[in-house]
Amino acid sequence: MAETPEWGIHRSAFGVHSFGRKEYQIVDGKIVYADRGPVGVLVTEQHVGPATEPTLGDLSEALIAACGTDYGVHSPVWISRFTDAARQAAAYRKGRVLIAGDAAHVHPPDGGQGLQTGVQDAVNLGWKLAQVVKGASPECLLDTYHTERHPVAARVLRNTMASIVLRREDDRTKALRDTMSELLGMDEPRRRFGAMMSGLDIHYDLGEGHPLLGRRMPDLDLVTANGPLRVFTLLHDARPMLLNLGEPGGFDITPWADRVQSIDAEYAGRWELPAIGEVNAPTAVLVRPDGYVAWVGDSTQVGLADSLTAWFGPPTAA
Ligand SMILES: Cc1cc2nc3c(=O)[nH]c(=O)nc-3n(C[C@H](O)[C@H](O)[C@H](O)COP(=O)(O)OP(=O)(O)OC[C@H]3O[C@@H](n4cnc5c(N)ncnc54)[C@H](O)[C@@H]3O)c2cc1C
Repeated sequence: MAETPEWGIHRSAFGVHSFGRKEYQIVDGKIVYADRGPVGVLVTEQHVGPATEPTLGDLSEALIAACGTDYGVHSPVWISRFTDAARQAAAYRKGRVLIAGDAAHVHPPDGGQGLQTGVQDAVNLGWKLAQVVKGASPECLLDTYHTERHPVAARVLRNTMASIVLRREDDRTKALRDTMSELLGMDEPRRRFGAMMSGLDIHYDLGEGHPLLGRRMPDLDLVTANGPLRVFTLLHDARPMLLNLGEPGGFDITPWADRVQSIDAEYAGRWELPAIGEVNAPTAVLVRPDGYVAWVGDSTQVGLADSLTAWFGPPTAA
C-alpha cells in the first residue's frame, strides 16, 4: 500500500475490514506493526461477488466502498475471496466413498475452526480405515466415523453462523454483540466457549460412565519403568494403548497384544478436563489412536474386552 491505513479491525456498513502486517511486536500489550513489508487486508464486499478469481480492481473497489480510499493498493502477493456459506454433507460415508475436511463441511472462518475440524476428521478416520483394510475390524467400524464426526462439524456450523449474525451493523445487532461480550467476559461462559472453539471439549457418545469416556485423553506427565513420559509421546505411533495406573500387570490383554500396547505407569496429579474441570482419577484407560478414551476402568476389567473388540477387532486366538 502506498499509504498507511489505520491498523486493526474496523467496521463499515457492509461488515468488518482489517489491516495488519505479518511483522509486528507486542509493546505494552499493544501490537506495533513493522514500518515496511506487505499489508494483509481483509475487506467485506458490498455484494456477494462473482465466483471468478478476485482481481486487484475488485480489491480496490471494495476498499473504496468501505473506507473511501484504496490506500494506493498495488502488487498483490495473493488475493482470495470467501463467503459466509455454511453447508454440511448429509453423509460422510457412502460405501467406499468417505469425505473429510472442507469437502464435508464449509462455514465462515470465524474462530479459525475449519482446518482443525478437518484434520480431526482425518485423524478419526485414518486408524479405522487402516484396521478395516487390514481385515482386523469389520466394515461397520467405518460408520462410527460419520456418527462421531458429523455432530462436531454441525456444532461448528452453528457457532460460526451465530458469529456471522453478530457482525451486522444495525442497532439491534450491536446491542446483541455487547450482550454477548458481557456474557463472554464471565469465567464460566468463556471457559465453555473456549473449550468448544478449540475443539478440546469434543465428546463422542460412547455410552454412560466416567466423564473421560469419549473425551480427549489429557497429556499427563507419567512415571513409567522407562522414566518420565508424557501420554502424547506414547501415542506417537498411532497405536491404541491401555494405560494402567493401578497395580502393575493388573490387566491382561494378551489376545490383543499384537494391536494394543499395554503401559504400566504412575500418575499422582489431578485429572482436569477442558470445560468440565477436575474428574475422579481412573485406575486404567483405553486410549484410541486418535487420542480419545474408549474405556475407563476402576479396579476391575468389566467392559474392557467388549471395548477392545468393538474398536480394535476380535481377540486373537492363543
Ligand atoms: C479466510 C480464511 C481463514 C481461515 N482461517 C482458519 C484458521 O485460522 N484456522 C482453521 O482451523 N481454519 C481456517 N480456515 C479454514 C481452512 O482454511 C479450511 O478448513 C482448510 O483449508 C480445509 O482443508 P481441506 O484440505 O479440507 O480443503 P482445501 O484446503 O480446500 O483443499 C482441497 C484441495 O483439493 C484440490 N482439489 C479440488 N478439486 C480437485 C480435483 N477435482 N482434483 C484434484 N484436486 C482438487 C483443491 O485445489 C485444494 O487444494 C480459514 C478459511 C478461510 C477462507
